Amino acid sequence: MRKRATVEKVFLYAVNHIKSVIGETGMDDLFLKNLTCLVCGQNFQSSKVRRSRYVVSKVDTDFCTHYKGENPIYYNVNICPFCGYGFTESFQAPGEKFKEAIKNKIIKLSLDFSGIRTVGLAILAYRRAIDCALLQKAKNILLAGLTLHTAWLYRFVGEEEPEKKYMRESVKYFQDAFEKDADIGNPARTLYVMGELNRRLGNDREAILYFARIINDKKINDAGIIRMARERWQDMRGTN
Ligand SMILES: [Zn+2]
Repeated sequence: MRKRATVEKVFLYAVNHIKSVIGETGMDDLFLKNLTCLVCGQNFQSSKVRRSRYVVSKVDTDFCTHYKGENPIYYNVNICPFCGYGFTESFQAPGEKFKEAIKNKIIKLSLDFSGIRTVGLAILAYRRAIDCALLQKAKNILLAGLTLHTAWLYRFVGEEEPEKKYMRESVKYFQDAFEKDADIGNPARTLYVMGELNRRLGNDREAILYFARIINDKKINDAGIIRMARERWQDMRGTN
């Protein structure tokens, strides 16, 4: 517990530092959404970015979207102020025995998640959602997405080591989802992200296997993804 408290203190420092560097964005970019906690049943509000205020500045090759102004990714995770449960709109309500596990293991956070969020608060929220997803034995594809978003949050502030750590975790969950689970959304896109994360992690051999699979699999007809797989493979030839 002590270790966790220290980590949170470091984050708070980072939060305040970043706040002073970037300045604060206005609350009018945000609105409050009414939510009900999936664990304790209490109602609360969580801030979200208004869709009309989304301003995309660029999209990375692994679909990480950068925004000018308020970043909607910071607000994806809802943190219940009553019990500390963290969840996104992709979460399913945990079953009774998992609820008990969450109530026993998750402590209420003393931070305020209801207003403007810094990247530090967003990282804390995502890490809390990952803890909760693990406790309720959520699907691999959900964990793959949560860890990938956490990697992106670290990318936004140039923290390469934790970015890579979460990309490695994301690859592992995507792989498990792909091999073991039936419902993984768009398989071509999943294969591409697995290839691209491996490429970014320097695992060239694995990356090529995924890109080759997309290009050669006759069942894949997503032209955009096939083009991107070819481009990334080309990028690798250019740098090797
Ligand atoms: Zn709750």
